[in-house]
Amino acid sequence: MEKITIIGTGYVGLVTGVSLASLGHNVICVGRNKEKVFGINNGKSPFFEPGLDSLLGKLVKRGLIVASTNLEKSVTSSDFTIIAVGTPTVKGKIDLLEIKTAARQIGEALKNILKYHVVIVKSTVVPGTTELTIKPLLEKYSKKLIGKDFGLCMNPEFLREGNAVVDALQPDRIVIGQYDNKSGVSFSKIFDKFSCPRILTTIRTAEMTKYAANSLLATMISYSNEISRIAENVGDIDVVDVWKGVHLDGRLSPVIGGKRISPGFLNYILSGCGYGGSCFPKDTKALLNFSKRNGYIPSLIQSVVSINETQPERLVMLLLKELGDLRDKKITIWGLTFKPDTDDIRESPALSVIRLLDEMGAKIVCHDPMLNRIRKKITYLPIETKDSAIDAIKNADGLIIVTAWDEYKKYVPEVFIKNMKTPIIVDGRRILKKSIFKKTTVKYKGIGLSSI
Ligand code: NAD
Repeated sequence: MEKITIIGTGYVGLVTGVSLASLGHNVICVGRNKEKVFGINNGKSPFFEPGLDSLLGKLVKRGLIVASTNLEKSVTSSDFTIIAVGTPTVKGKIDLLEIKTAARQIGEALKNILKYHVVIVKSTVVPGTTELTIKPLLEKYSKKLIGKDFGLCMNPEFLREGNAVVDALQPDRIVIGQYDNKSGVSFSKIFDKFSCPRILTTIRTAEMTKYAANSLLATMISYSNEISRIAENVGDIDVVDVWKGVHLDGRLSPVIGGKRISPGFLNYILSGCGYGGSCFPKDTKALLNFSKRNGYIPSLIQSVVSINETQPERLVMLLLKELGDLRDKKITIWGLTFKPDTDDIRESPALSVIRLLDEMGAKIVCHDPMLNRIRKKITYLPIETKDSAIDAIKNADGLIIVTAWDEYKKYVPEVFIKNMKTPIIVDGRRILKKSIFKKTTVKYKGIGLSSI
């Protein structure tokens, strides 16, 4: 079993650490925050991910995973170092500050290592970054020879927040971009217990694979939202039924052995408030900027980004059409996280909806099942929060559903009639059945349903 250090204890770093420790490897997760490191060493993840705390607790007890703030000591006591730090997009361009710092620190630690060591970039970076930015920093600060003293790989991560533990324990593919054969073969061995296909390729191909995968899913979402916009302007079209008709195409959901298979891919061919989270928005923008800098304007991806950025407006417009003016109106938002089963609010469509409602003078009240975990991150928002979804809609002039939490699916029309001042619902995820509102006083509006 191998000794592996992972730099970064975020969604990717910690979940990767848990997955590799589950394979029997000895993992050290390096973080910068002492409190978070202490929590991890006591089996408590700094963020919510289904199943993570219980698995982490078991692996900590077995001594297979430990967290540390000492990067140098961790790297020098390992054979592999995986970089899983953030690569945000700032002003449309990938920001390499964290990854450059990590590369420099790893380089300095490598200086003191005598045996062969492999550095692996897991963070999402635009093609060429590993070879043109990370490699020179590793060489400069380690004063060692790549290929001889240390190896280099790029191993993009495909886990989905909300399903990250399962994804990391049962990967569907492993892509490894290798600087040379020795790097790839050495690193590849750590996955020997996984039976999924492995692709050993060039570093730039691995980097590009991640952007191609995320852009494809983002494109499906913006395409679905474009269809809903066309439908909304016509009227008497329900996009939910449109997608049912599209999904049943045997090429998208084949019938095998008499049973229809419903691939996860279909979840991206649905209309809603647009994509959010820490990956799709930043990765599509980074690819767009990268491509332009390399002399090609990717007009499809440009449109994907622009449709996504304007999609939250559609929700607010639907409400505005019903209420005329939003000034001093009490508007409730159900759902702040960018999707269910996560406590991640990064680039959540809810943030755009809040900004627009605030600009229009509305009083905003929000509920989210993860409120307790996200409270500290949302203190800057001009909102009031409620611990119960029902309390949040009391006396409200309108409700916008932004996140498709299961909890919101159970409410019947009487709940809205009884609690809201005017029962107007804008369902941004189409999670409520429109038929239940027929013959009631609830005005049910939704993406891809009403004419605006
Ligand atoms: P994150 O922001 O949750 O975590 C990054 C962590 O790295 C932070 O905790 C930060 O403090 C830590 N860090 C930064 N520099 C450090 C250093 N020098 N030493 C120790 N710790 C350091 O980010 P994330 O969501 O885990 O994403 C990490 C990378 O993986 C990004 O490039 C992202 O695009 C990519 N990715 C993310 C996902 C996802 O679903 N979140 C999926 C696939 C790929």
